[in-house]
Amino acid sequence: MKFTSKLPNVGTTIFTVMSQLANTHNAINLSQGFPNYPSDQKLTDLVSKAMNSGYNQYAPMAGNLDLRLAIANKYQRLYNSSYHPEKEITVTAGATQAIYCIISAFVRPNDEVIIFKPAYDCYQPAVEVNGGNTIPIQLSAAKNYKPDWNEVTSKISSKTKMILINSPHNPSGTIWSKEDMLQLQKLTENTNIIVLSDEVYEHIVFDGAQHQSACLFDGLKQRSFITASFGKTFHNTGWKIGFTCGPETLMEEFRKVHQFNVFSVHHPSQKGIADYMRDANTYLDLNEFFQHKRDLFLSLINGSEFKFKPSQGTYFQVLDYSAITDENDIDFAKRLTTDYGIASIPLSVFNENHHDDKVLRFCFAKTDETLVKAAEILNKI
Ligand code: PMP
Ligand code: GLN
Repeated sequence: MKFTSKLPNVGTTIFTVMSQLANTHNAINLSQGFPNYPSDQKLTDLVSKAMNSGYNQYAPMAGNLDLRLAIANKYQRLYNSSYHPEKEITVTAGATQAIYCIISAFVRPNDEVIIFKPAYDCYQPAVEVNGGNTIPIQLSAAKNYKPDWNEVTSKISSKTKMILINSPHNPSGTIWSKEDMLQLQKLTENTNIIVLSDEVYEHIVFDGAQHQSACLFDGLKQRSFITASFGKTFHNTGWKIGFTCGPETLMEEFRKVHQFNVFSVHHPSQKGIADYMRDANTYLDLNEFFQHKRDLFLSLINGSEFKFKPSQGTYFQVLDYSAITDENDIDFAKRLTTDYGIASIPLSVFNENHHDDKVLRFCFAKTDETLVKAAEILNKI
């Protein structure tokens, strides 16, 4: 069979590679981002209840209406921002499917999509498989991954179809300020640029900072899709339920792709999550829950050879190992897994031209016991 790959530069995602290596070597797995403790039994009970009370057939294409209402209420309550549950919110198979379908619905061959690197790894292939060109903006570890708005200005052209942003940011654990969002708003004013704002970590922001959702800025809201993931918020990444919200005219186009991509997603989980979200503390308590884990992890490794700036959001902490070795980050991450029994994610895989800042990402969505064991290992390196 002869064919030309549409994605010649894509291999197996680093999350699969590192998790498999961790399993083979029985290493503590702080690589792929997922909790190693159960999600709340109240939630699993509500999903079971939904399964036993008639929610086993197709959900509406846009999602279970109770869930869309719960999402709309959350935006109203948290951001004083209104999204019409029937026209402006769609439930998706995780944020990944939302991101893919947003890009597919709008990006044509040779359109340009600006992405900030290090970038979560599903963005670029989704652009390229649709014939678009990614225009990377490499953020600097030394500047704590702050965007340079003059550089962003210089990358915008008549071909720019979309700008993809992600705060709180995976993998760096940094967040964008209100000023950053205002800059983006100003730059996109009077353009037809669509903003895809990946906000899957919106409820994991530390030290009293406020999440700067795109919906808080009128000029951004009218051109933005926001993507979110219940997997991150309710500790069940395996369920793959998320959603996107955006203005009606954009959402209509999104659903043209979504309906022929998955049509709809697991119905009982949607109903269970809708009922669970009646109590807003189910997501409002998350900042504190993860801040405790971040603080525990950092206090335990404070005397180690790793250097760090505390994560501002997400459940990831980046550690700089330049005082330990000058090996490249992929080799070092692999060696830590095989020889020391701790798995992490090298950041270079998310960077332009595999730029290597000698930093690794560690996931602290783990039991305190696991974090203690992980720290014992890190302190010996
Ligand atoms: N965006 C970012 C920044 C992520 O970290 C992830 C996954 N952790 C996703 C999107 C995908 O989310 P989901 O698992 O809901 O598809
Ligand atoms: N988002 C998770 C992470 O960053 C991984 C998701 C995946 O494995 N595709 O670790």
